[in-house]
Amino acid sequence: MKENALKLKHILNNPQKIVITTHRGPDGDAMGSSLAMMHFLMKLGHHVDVITPNSYANFLHWMPGNNRVIVYEESEEEARKITEEADLIFLMDFSHISRIADFDSVISNATVTKVLVDHHQDPDIDIADIIFSDPKICSTAQLVYELITAMGLINHLDKDIAECLYVGIMTDTGSFKYPSTNSRTHNIVAELIKLGVNNADIHDLVYDSLSASRIRLLGYCLSEKLLLYPENNSAIISLDEDELKRFNFKKGDTEGIVNYALAIKGITFATFIVEKDNLVKLSFRSKGDFKVNKIAKKHFNGGGHINAAGGVSQLTVEGTIKKIEEIIKNQ
Ligand code: 5GP
Ligand code: MN
Repeated sequence: MKENALKLKHILNNPQKIVITTHRGPDGDAMGSSLAMMHFLMKLGHHVDVITPNSYANFLHWMPGNNRVIVYEESEEEARKITEEADLIFLMDFSHISRIADFDSVISNATVTKVLVDHHQDPDIDIADIIFSDPKICSTAQLVYELITAMGLINHLDKDIAECLYVGIMTDTGSFKYPSTNSRTHNIVAELIKLGVNNADIHDLVYDSLSASRIRLLGYCLSEKLLLYPENNSAIISLDEDELKRFNFKKGDTEGIVNYALAIKGITFATFIVEKDNLVKLSFRSKGDFKVNKIAKKHFNGGGHINAAGGVSQLTVEGTIKKIEEIIKNQ
């Protein structure tokens, strides 16, 4: 870490044109770590653009710097031009090029120095020139904090950076409850609060500012769509495109539903299946040492962490449920 941090610091001695990008379907950690890095690098005097492959949930739009984000799917030409002119590219919260969808060729074609900051398992180390990767760390946001610390620039942190980092750490630790949350995480969060972060307000903005239809969709999933396999400690929830329409689906509305299945006593493996944009997406969650990233990788061309992973299915929603049932029975 230290050696790479000093290498990066050296590069940052001169003003650079920097592009920061993150994975498709950016979540709180993806946006939190990317925007925190943007504010930090701008403070050092660099020109910075954040480009996301596609759009993201409304409950993240209040974040400082959100108005500077360019969405590749909506502004392909602009995003391509900016990336082609960049001197330096940061890849945040992903480590396989397939995770940035159609933006992949633009990033792959760029020959400038790339910096990876990520906490996923099994990173593709060919993806970047300077790598900050640690799967033990709860969030990419915490890794950004550690990186800034290692560069000796922690005195550059301000309220904007702190708020973005707080969102990343809060969302990727399930509000500080996952096992990846440790004393270091709490110490960092304490520092962020000292910098002016209002933790209660941010929690409210992210978790308690939902639309009525999103809450109804959640209720529908729990009362009508929960499949339980108690003898296998497993649960499945699925939604198809028609059901999403019925509940006036907006991006982000299905986030977190999978965790409710895991809240049932005895359930240690939960799957959420959703059909959207002609794609069947899967989210896996587990408790303990049941490695859902292995299942995601082996069967669904995906990956992630030991207790939280995702992938895609080539089957219908029904077919995907059958396949998961097989996996559950053979585990
Ligand atoms: P979620 O279920 O919240 O979409 O994702 C859970 C975790 O799995 C995240 O850390 C995410 O990065 C990872 N993940 C989700 N979908 C995919 C995928 O299609 N491919 C890979 N490699 N990882 C994924
Ligand atoms: Mn993350």
